[in-house]
Amino acid sequence: MTTLADPVPGGRPGDLDRVASLTAELAARGVRGIVLAYVDTAGVTRVKTVPTARLEAAVSWGVGMSPVFDTFLADDSVVTTDVLGSPDGDLRLYPDLDRLTVLAAQPGWAWAPVDRITQEGARHPGCARTFLRRTVTEAAERYGLDFRAAIEVEWALGLGSAPAGEFAPAVSGPAYGAIRQIELSDFTADLLTACTEQDVDVHQIHPEYAAGQFEISVAALDPVAAADLSVLIRQTIRAVARRHGLRVSFAPAVSADGVGNGGHLHLSCRRAGVNLHAGGPGRYGMTAEAESFAAGVLARLPALTAVTAPSPASYLRLRPSQWAGVFTAWGRETREAALRVVTGSAGRQDQEANMEIKPVDLAANPYLALGCVIAAGLDGLTAALPLPREITGDPARYGPEEAAALGVRRLPVTLSQAVEEFRADQVLRAALGPVLADAVTAVRLGEAAAVEGLDDARVAAAYRWRY
Ligand code: GLU
Ligand code: MG
Repeated sequence: MTTLADPVPGGRPGDLDRVASLTAELAARGVRGIVLAYVDTAGVTRVKTVPTARLEAAVSWGVGMSPVFDTFLADDSVVTTDVLGSPDGDLRLYPDLDRLTVLAAQPGWAWAPVDRITQEGARHPGCARTFLRRTVTEAAERYGLDFRAAIEVEWALGLGSAPAGEFAPAVSGPAYGAIRQIELSDFTADLLTACTEQDVDVHQIHPEYAAGQFEISVAALDPVAAADLSVLIRQTIRAVARRHGLRVSFAPAVSADGVGNGGHLHLSCRRAGVNLHAGGPGRYGMTAEAESFAAGVLARLPALTAVTAPSPASYLRLRPSQWAGVFTAWGRETREAALRVVTGSAGRQDQEANMEIKPVDLAANPYLALGCVIAAGLDGLTAALPLPREITGDPARYGPEEAAALGVRRLPVTLSQAVEEFRADQVLRAALGPVLADAVTAVRLGEAAAVEGLDDARVAAAYRWRY
């Protein structure tokens, strides 16, 4: 399980007890430096690195960083809010030792996600990982609930030899095709080796539909660990790809047309180890609580989109009939509904049943996305919200009247529309707190302004190599 305690100046007691022996072990394994990683509001993973010998200092007193990064855009320009975006101030980054991982594809390096506190030792209200830790802790305290989550990772592999800025798919042959698997046999085998060495439990890795696209899926973990793993996996994919002369894009839309890269989010609620999405009296074995949780997520999807699909390029991906789930609807194993109820196979439903949220991409900060989805679900659970009628097939076929009768809405078609929904959503804003909610709004509006007047091809190009 993830450490849910906040860092404290002087160091978390448990961390101080083990950091000396951990440092010695890392040095003996040839680790020279530690990558300290966090994801900013725009969804870009940013890092600081320290020599291995400084790990004890980092665990005790943190590593300095400006709060200005909380309002960076994906192109590295900066917007401001009432609180963030100023050149003043400093924060301390504290690595989570439970997640420290020796990087198999980057010899000499280990990696750890960080939590951020102020110099005075208080939680930084802009820290996304702290927000998710807090959300999960409160769900346990108030509802006796815990969660299992997994984030699917899709990416496009391009030839490193392509002209700067351009994408040339690294494989040929049909979608999901054996040709693609054979062409990248060495790359994917090296990726699996790296994952094994890093204790990552891979479920599947396969060539996907779009040009040069691959997907990896992993075992479900607690939400903070699942978000951490999504960041680590992407670091690993990039590092292995580089060794093979390949370029990686996790951008929602590598080109303006066609199927994009998703980051589908799987989530289930548990109480005392029992999966609430199986063995219940509701639809497909859901308990009443699981149904209401799912209804809460469904009801807030238009506003959630500002968090789960945060890039102008996200809206090139979020198009009907491309498996991205752009309608507020749910269905059993329905790939065009935003919320897919997954029952699992007979005999394993108690372990496997979960819900999959599709309008999520890898420009999303995974800590914000999971925290907001959980907050929406808990709101539905508190209100005992009924789950509407399920749908089957592609909701794109509904006419306006049928869609209205079924409560099926198209999700926002632009980032600006998503921000309007988000701004009006008191539940999500309250869950995030004013500082983080304002950062989300300011960064999204900044991204929308940055692409104003650009056509789709230029929007895709602007973000192609930023995520
Ligand atoms: N690439 C699709 C997306 O953008 C998902 C394909 C799948 O269902 O795996 O969400
Ligand atoms: Mg896929």
